[in-house]
Amino acid sequence: MLIVMQHQAQPEDIERVKKVVMDMGLEARPIPGSERTAIGVLGNYGYVDEDPIRTLPGVRDVLHVSKPYKLASRDFHPQDTQVDIGHVTVGGTAPPVIMAGPCAIESEEQMHAAARFVKAAGGHILRGGAFKPRTGPHSFQGMGQEGLKYLYEAGRQVGLPVVTEVMRIEQLDTVCRYADMLQIGARNMQNFDLLKEVGRLQHPVLLKRGICATIEEFLAAAEYILAEGNEQLILCERGVRTFERATRNTLDLSVVPLIQELSHLPIIVDPSHATGKRRLVPLMAKAALMVGTQGLMIETHPQPETALCDGAQSLDPEEFSQLMGQLQELSAAASAL
Ligand code: PEP
Ligand code: MN
Repeated sequence: MLIVMQHQAQPEDIERVKKVVMDMGLEARPIPGSERTAIGVLGNYGYVDEDPIRTLPGVRDVLHVSKPYKLASRDFHPQDTQVDIGHVTVGGTAPPVIMAGPCAIESEEQMHAAARFVKAAGGHILRGGAFKPRTGPHSFQGMGQEGLKYLYEAGRQVGLPVVTEVMRIEQLDTVCRYADMLQIGARNMQNFDLLKEVGRLQHPVLLKRGICATIEEFLAAAEYILAEGNEQLILCERGVRTFERATRNTLDLSVVPLIQELSHLPIIVDPSHATGKRRLVPLMAKAALMVGTQGLMIETHPQPETALCDGAQSLDPEEFSQLMGQLQELSAAASAL
């Protein structure tokens, strides 16, 4: 429920409303706005009787919000959220942020080489997976903690913050020591215990859309993290499973403007996992820029043909640098749209 106060409502009117809400056993969160204050009501599992509230002095309207997410919605939080990852800002008025690097951390040399060319091409955040969620148990599962060290050192050496996936609650302590941002992968988007646990941390989180998740389920998953207090949260569209087998997944670019309407959280696009095909990645990255993405996550590898994971969708250094130049040229046109 959302209680909209009158323009001329006094601070004591707001306090009175908060007290009535709290006496009903619910949580009241004031949402100051440029025109008027609203008060979000949280903690109800069903319909809340609005009668005791509607008649209080200063109350203009009472709206019932039936979405499974509230804190993630623009109704409860009209201004854009900006997320700071080290010195890099994502969301709001910040220019699109490019996160790039290999699918998996494979060696110290590979990670340092990747860091150097990602930085040289103008990338902002370095990625690399140390704990890999692979479809089959016989595929490379990642280097674990040793890999995290290489990622961290490579990022620090070139001055790029780093992001890496965490798959289990027990990995959180370790991953937090090395990563500037925690990635929750598509397969864990509805691992609610993991979501709650990262919600209790201060670390920025990148939440990828589940393989078959609707927008509502995606935002409800984000709500789990916000509800625990962590508001440093970025969403990532990475394609969804459809009947189409010509691409690895189906990139759903319409979620970018849709999420921006529904939510204050920044949304970025991963064209690598969305297509699975190197030649489609630059085009889809540029398309994402044109629909207003607030960032991109791109897999790139010093030698994609030798990659232990996702080589077919990884750009080589030359392709990545060329794409960065094209994105730069298109950025003025994209922001004019
Ligand atoms: C990844 O980013 O390496 C990854 C496994 O992505 P997703 O969770 O989107 O499949
Ligand atoms: Mn990958």
